[in-house]
Amino acid sequence: MNKKWLFICVSILFLPPLALADGAYPSRREAMVRTQIAERGIKDMATLEAIRVVPRHLFVPPHLTGSAYEDRPLPIGYGQTISQPYIVAYMTELVRPRTGHKVLEIGAGSGYQAAILAQIVKQVYTIEIVPELGHDARERLHKLGYRNVLVRVADGYDGWPEQAPFDAIIVTAAADYIPPPLIRQLKDGGRMVIPVGSPFLVQTLMLVEKDKGNVKTTSLVPVRFVPFRRGP
Ligand code: SAH
Repeated sequence: MNKKWLFICVSILFLPPLALADGAYPSRREAMVRTQIAERGIKDMATLEAIRVVPRHLFVPPHLTGSAYEDRPLPIGYGQTISQPYIVAYMTELVRPRTGHKVLEIGAGSGYQAAILAQIVKQVYTIEIVPELGHDARERLHKLGYRNVLVRVADGYDGWPEQAPFDAIIVTAAADYIPPPLIRQLKDGGRMVIPVGSPFLVQTLMLVEKDKGNVKTTSLVPVRFVPFRRGP
C-alpha cells in the first residue's frame, strides 16, 4: 500500500469518532431548546433561535462539556457559575431584544449570555468584575467570531456611562438593591432584569421598566444567583 492510500485509510478510521463526538452537540442543544425552554413557555423566536445556535459546550470548562446541555447552572471557576439554560432564555425574552438594540450586561462570567444577546441585537456591552473571567470571556467570544460584544473588566455597579443609554440591561448577579446608575442608563421605553436579594436567602428576579421618566418595578420569580460584588 502506498503512502497516499495508507493516509486515506487511517483518516477514514479516525474520522467517524471525531465527527460523532462533535456531531452530538447540535442534537443535544435542539433537545434542550425543546424540553427545557420551549415546552416551559419561552415563545420569543429570536431567543429560541439564538439558543439553538450558540455552542454552550464551548462556554463551560473542558471537563464539563458533557454536561453543558443539562438543566442546571455549572461552575466556571472563581466561585462563579454559568446560569441554567432556561434562566438565560427567560431573562433574554423578558428584555425583548430587537435587531437594532444596544444592550448592557453586568456579570459576563463565561460570556454565554452575551453571545445569546449578540445573536439578536446590534451591540452588546458586558462587564465582569473577576479579571480572569473577563479576559477569558473576551478571548472566547472573539474566537467564536462575535464582533459586536465588548467586554470590560470593572465593577458593574456604575454601568457603562460612555455608551449609555441602553435599550435593555441584564444583570446576572444578585444585588441588595438596584444600582441607581443602571436605572439612569436605561433608555426611556427600556427594560432591565435583575435578581435582587441577599446572597444566601431567596432572591427575586425583578423587571424594571422606564416609561416617560417613570420607573416601574415588578417582582417576577424566586431565583438563585451568585452575589453582586463591589470593588475593583
Ligand atoms: N452571565 C454569565 C453568568 C455569570 S455569573 C454567563 O452567561 O456565564 C455572574 C457573574 O457576575 C460572575 O462572573 C461574577 O464574577 C460577576 N459579578 C459579580 N458582581 C459583579 C459586579 N459588581 N460587576 C461585574 N460583574 C460582577
